[in-house]
Amino acid sequence: MACEMLNIDSKYAKEMVAHALEDDPNECCGILAGKDGETLKLYRMVNIEASPYRYRMDPKELLKVYNEIDDSGSEIVAIYHSHTHSEAYPSATDVRLATWPESRYILVSLLDRENPPIRAFHIEDGTVTEEDVTIGSPA
Ligand SMILES: [Zn+2]
Repeated sequence: MACEMLNIDSKYAKEMVAHALEDDPNECCGILAGKDGETLKLYRMVNIEASPYRYRMDPKELLKVYNEIDDSGSEIVAIYHSHTHSEAYPSATDVRLATWPESRYILVSLLDRENPPIRAFHIEDGTVTEEDVTIGSPA
């Protein structure tokens, strides 16, 4: 899994930023699903914490979405959430609650609302590894 690079179609990058801005000041969260690292669908999820400082997906909604992704032969490409008051880097809470080492976590920060940065990380056993992200159509 080392030295991977994630390409996000600009359509989905824009959608994540739009979601972050809509839920601001609270954090938003969602899932990118697809095949071979290519995103084919974005699921907006409800942040049941409805908080500016943390997010939690509804376990029932998560199970429903997970089954739909599985049934369609796709997999989870990434789990995204926004940081409305801090940079696009996993918080101590994010690291502690990360339970999906085989996936990746995307962070969108609204510190720069004009051009919100999008970054991706693997989080496993408390270790955070950043992954390069490119936005746009795959070359
Ligand atoms: Zn976070």
